[in-house]
Amino acid sequence: MAPLVLADVLPDGPPRLAPEVEEALVAAVGREHVLVGADVAGHADPFSFLGEATVVPAGVVLPGNVEEVRAVVRLAGEHRVPLWPVSRGRNYGYGGASPRVPGSVVVDLHRMDAVVEVDDETGYVVVEPGVSFLALAEHLRSTGSSLMPSVPDIGWGSVLGNALERGFGYTSHGDHSAFQCGMEVVLADGTLVRTGMGAKADSTAFALYKGGFGPSVDGLFFQSNLGIVTKIGVWLAPRPESTAVCMLTTPHDDDLAGLVDVLRPLMLEGTIQSNAVIGNAPVVASMVSPRAAWYDGPGLLPESALFAMNAAMGTGRWNARFALYGPASLVEARLDVVRAAVEAALPDASLRVTTYGRDVDPAEVHPADRAQLGIPSTDLIQMAAWRGGTPAHTDFSLVCPPTGADAVRQRDLLRARIQDEGFDYAGGFTLNARHAIALALVAFDRDDPADCARVAALFPALVADASAAGYAPYRSHPAFMDLVADQYDANDSALRRTVGRIKDALDPLGVLAPGKQGIWPGSASSRGGV
Ligand SMILES: Cc1cc2nc3c(=O)[nH]c(=O)nc-3n(C[C@H](O)[C@H](O)[C@H](O)COP(=O)(O)OP(=O)(O)OC[C@H]3O[C@@H](n4cnc5c(N)ncnc54)[C@H](O)[C@@H]3O)c2cc1C
Repeated sequence: MAPLVLADVLPDGPPRLAPEVEEALVAAVGREHVLVGADVAGHADPFSFLGEATVVPAGVVLPGNVEEVRAVVRLAGEHRVPLWPVSRGRNYGYGGASPRVPGSVVVDLHRMDAVVEVDDETGYVVVEPGVSFLALAEHLRSTGSSLMPSVPDIGWGSVLGNALERGFGYTSHGDHSAFQCGMEVVLADGTLVRTGMGAKADSTAFALYKGGFGPSVDGLFFQSNLGIVTKIGVWLAPRPESTAVCMLTTPHDDDLAGLVDVLRPLMLEGTIQSNAVIGNAPVVASMVSPRAAWYDGPGLLPESALFAMNAAMGTGRWNARFALYGPASLVEARLDVVRAAVEAALPDASLRVTTYGRDVDPAEVHPADRAQLGIPSTDLIQMAAWRGGTPAHTDFSLVCPPTGADAVRQRDLLRARIQDEGFDYAGGFTLNARHAIALALVAFDRDDPADCARVAALFPALVADASAAGYAPYRSHPAFMDLVADQYDANDSALRRTVGRIKDALDPLGVLAPGKQGIWPGSASSRGGV
């Protein structure tokens, strides 16, 4: 059979599921686990800026176990239906559960929600796709585990889905894809693969040693359309005796370079064990209030509003939150090193420290410190309501070196373009020892066509600006995946063409998430059969 090409998956009329496909899916997973018609609306992008071009799935299938996932991929091949797997589908800001192409069936794995294994002794869990950060934290708490999860800003997403998208949290184990170990994957032909040590039947070290024997393939399944991941192992840290959450604020916009350059060496040497989440005043304000609380006049936020925010919230023009972990004596020693470095480099900065013990009651933790303690919440969804109207936001996430000079370049590049489009620059960085992610959060009113049109124009302009300066996003909304993939162009896009060849080998019919991350089925060329 020939592989899918775009003409197969872009129907002329409204997306619909052919009756024989619906019947086959119902036979595989049960009537109540196949959604069609109006019931699929919840799986479109909740923050869409695409208006009538918003991609709505043709159907949604909710398998309850690995065998049902295998049955679904086989049926998709037989009926030539594109699938789009999601774990909890909360990829808000990057398209939600929305597929890349119309006519797709979303494979929603949230019913597969077992915490398969918790090992306190060696510090790992094995989870299915449906396990949310909220559920994992509750499971660890209620079973008396000594382990601490790492959680992103919003806890309703999937531990597995977030790791696959290279998402991050804010503890010592915040780089979620780096702390994955062991994977179980269903391929397009239904083959069930276990990676690393898991390739040995009855392995005792599935989630302990990444290597196994021979080439590592786990990386092929991150941000990928080569398989559907049904389990991963995740390394977790033990809850430490003491955690010091530090908030470092600087009064001037020009302090950004100094802030980055004082924190990076402390991370490289291991004094600071978490990343540092750095935000400007509007980002911090958007976590707790709507824009109208500070300014409701025309145009961009004026300087006076920024001063008002900082005066009211006790924040600065740049604010960095990070944490130190370990036995109390070690945390105190780390803190002394941090204090000395900050005093020497940033005499105008203020460093506020709150120390928490191992068994702190989550209700006693300051809401802004929760993520550094691995306590999930959903409070920050209100950031999408910053501009009023129907809340929506989109994220722009650029990878850059973790230096002050790069941070300033990124700030200037993002701020200029975002303000040109009439949005406030609500930005910052997730600073790590060896890379930073420059983040710009653009809140908009999804029911305002003018706002949506400006968001749709902004992203390609930002990609072009960033690319010209040697930077590229690491993640994107499906609508811009080809554009972002185009920027990864070294040696005539050799990497993309290589992944295309692997795609053709593993999924010759091209049914798994066609177009995800710019990888299309049909040939080894970057655009496949298009
Ligand atoms: C205000 C706000 C704050 C945010 N803060 C953060 C943050 O701090 N850190 C962060 O990382 N993100 C953040 N996000 C982005 C996003 O909400 C999270 O990353 C969220 O965890 C992603 O949703 P999910 O975990 O349900 O993944 P899903 O939506 O289930 O998955 C994401 C994508 O991964 C792929 N995928 C998922 N499951 C599978 C599978 N089993 N097999 C193959 N492919 C699969 C699919 O392409 C899917 O679309 C934020 C968003 C908002 C709106």
